[in-house]
Amino acid sequence: MDARFFTAWIEEAARSLRDGRDELTRLDAAIGDADHGSNLDRGFTEAVRALAERRPATPGAVLALVGGTLIRKVGGASGPLYGTAFREAGKALGETPEVSPAGFAAALEAGVAGVRRLGSAAEGDKTMVDALAPAARALAEAVQDGRAAAETRAGAGRDPSETGRGDGGLARALEAAAAAAEAGAEATVPMQARKGRASYLGPRSVGHLDPGAASAALILRALHTVAS
Ligand code: ADP
Ligand code: MG
Ligand code: MG
Repeated sequence: MDARFFTAWIEEAARSLRDGRDELTRLDAAIGDADHGSNLDRGFTEAVRALAERRPATPGAVLALVGGTLIRKVGGASGPLYGTAFREAGKALGETPEVSPAGFAAALEAGVAGVRRLGSAAEGDKTMVDALAPAARALAEAVQDGRAAAETRAGAGRDPSETGRGDGGLARALEAAAAAAEAGAEATVPMQARKGRASYLGPRSVGHLDPGAASAALILRALHTVAS
């Protein structure tokens, strides 16, 4: 995965967030202040514009620019949180021009760790962490499985690039991550919010999908879309 791949991801995420904007705002109207869709639509539109202007040369630089843009352009909780996720992930990638699936899995974990630290949210608190954390785990596992399968084939004298390292392996690993994010988002419905605005509602936050978990699932689904 190179800088063009990561740029394509952010463009696809921006499209998907624009399409999902009203739904995200409706979710935030139920347990927040009805701005999550417009916050992210604005932030990702600005990120796409910044990428087109600056054309960062490495995946790490792409994610750093996206993170910085989200922090500057998105008011509210989600701007700094997503901004930190992208920045930390970008930092973890360093200056490599080509990211391996394992390298990206580690970067996603670093991004999620950044969100956890900044928001002091754990899984089960009904936030974006409930979609992001299972996605990071699923990706790490899928990459591990792909490698193990490739090593087995190599041991048997077959082509190790068939799965896990080839593009088929990448798309499969990203499918696992997106599916885990979607299941994680869905699982926020019965939770009571313990962080962010929704926590002010106490038990009345139960029975609603968390908007940040829903947007995290869209962003991770966009990653699978560009890889397949
Ligand atoms: P705001 O609540 O400031 O209006 P948004 O509506 O853009 O910001 O984002 C709300 C989302 O941010 C929530 O649905 C939740 O997923 C996420 N969020 C809020 N607070 C936290 C936190 N402390 N840690 C992690 N995620 C959080
Ligand atoms: Mg809001
Ligand atoms: Mg707000």
